[in-house]
Amino acid sequence: MSKDHDRIHVDEKNLCSVCVSQLDGIYAELGLTDSELAILSQPRRIFTTHFPVTLSNGTTGMFVGHRVQFNDARGPSKGGIRFHPDLEVDHVSELAFLMSLKCAVVDIPFGGAKGGVVVNPKELSRGELELITRAYIREIADFIGPFKDIPAPDVYTDEKIMVWILDEYEHLMRRHAPAAVTGKPVELGGMSARRYSTSLGGVYVLEEAMKKMGVQKSDVRVAVQGFGNVGENAARILHELGYRVIAVSDSKGGIINQKGLNIQEAIKHKKNSRSLAGFPGSESISNDELLICDCDVLVPAALSDQLHVNNAGNVQAKIVLELANAPTTTDADQIFIEKSIMLIPDVLANAGGVAGSYLEWIQNLNSDYWEEEKVLKKLKNVMINAFQGVYSLYEQDRTPLRKAAYKIAIQRILNAEKLRGNLD
Ligand code: NAD
Repeated sequence: MSKDHDRIHVDEKNLCSVCVSQLDGIYAELGLTDSELAILSQPRRIFTTHFPVTLSNGTTGMFVGHRVQFNDARGPSKGGIRFHPDLEVDHVSELAFLMSLKCAVVDIPFGGAKGGVVVNPKELSRGELELITRAYIREIADFIGPFKDIPAPDVYTDEKIMVWILDEYEHLMRRHAPAAVTGKPVELGGMSARRYSTSLGGVYVLEEAMKKMGVQKSDVRVAVQGFGNVGENAARILHELGYRVIAVSDSKGGIINQKGLNIQEAIKHKKNSRSLAGFPGSESISNDELLICDCDVLVPAALSDQLHVNNAGNVQAKIVLELANAPTTTDADQIFIEKSIMLIPDVLANAGGVAGSYLEWIQNLNSDYWEEEKVLKKLKNVMINAFQGVYSLYEQDRTPLRKAAYKIAIQRILNAEKLRGNLD
């Protein structure tokens, strides 16, 4: 990028380097101006807070929390809250950038955000987790809300944490505001389909891709990395639909059986023994092995950067369905293109999460709650329309699906910026 921007100031320190590199290849093809590229490469707002919380042993810990609102030209920012010991603000920015693109790819009226706290929830008591969550929300409360920025669950945060977020926010605002947070329990304005909407949205898209490829689902062997909200639900839904789910894993490792795993039983096994290891009829497999195992569809559904230059060449799957955010590095992306592996990018594949959140938000704003059937019909429409749009760009000129999705999203975001008068 040239440093000589005509109108828009570029804060080089806060440039999202991953965003810039992802946009690099698209820059020329879309003929973006420096001003347009600058708007797309810098988060609109970054909040970092250091806040004290008194822990159960009586000591006070200082915790670090971030919230990044990347681009909100198309509507209030939307994005998950992650609790993770390795959380860094640059990565939060990258994830917020992806959220901006994702909302635009599926054409819902949200911008993109992401946030979280640098903490390992596995080392905290429930009480400590609640205190940290509430303290973090007190720090960022002025910057979030139903028409500003709406949090949701992400890695190591769940419905229970969304309730604490909502409750703290409502106390501070002195009014009810169910639309301030999504991924809530049904009793507090949540939507049961939101629990699995990320995974189901991904399955809708996968099924469309397979129709295009003329593949029968009973022939398809699937490996899923990650057995949390997204991975477990994806494995369960695929198993219920008749796919052969041959491998699944969590942070401790995985299990494999080429004949197929009974996922309902694997879920029960993990609940009882707190581990997938030792599931009857399976062999153990490491996370690294799972990614390169003999399968047809690989579903990364855990953390970022799992598929990289050192393992992408060994991936045997024909389709990679990115249910995690940013599981594939740029180098690996290129390798997949060379190997003709169809990569269904995160901004499309896992957009069922934010699409589900959007449906929850609408119901909260209107105090009008729908039957699950209506929710699923709307979710399916959003996902299939988005897939068709991206796929037709691929059919036109063989643009890889990630690039096609980015092009669609970028044009929608820039159009909103133009309509607002921020760009010529
Ligand atoms: P989660 O906390 O419920 O589950 C995370 C899973 O990843 C757990 O099974 C954990 O054991 C596993 N894991 C952690 N470290 C691992 C490692 N090193 N190797 C293999 N597995 C590991 O989180 P989630 O909500 O399921 O999110 C998973 C991914 O999906 C994340 O990338 C998240 O950003 C993305 N995502 C989530 C949603 C959502 O609705 N929850 C929506 C869109 C995208």
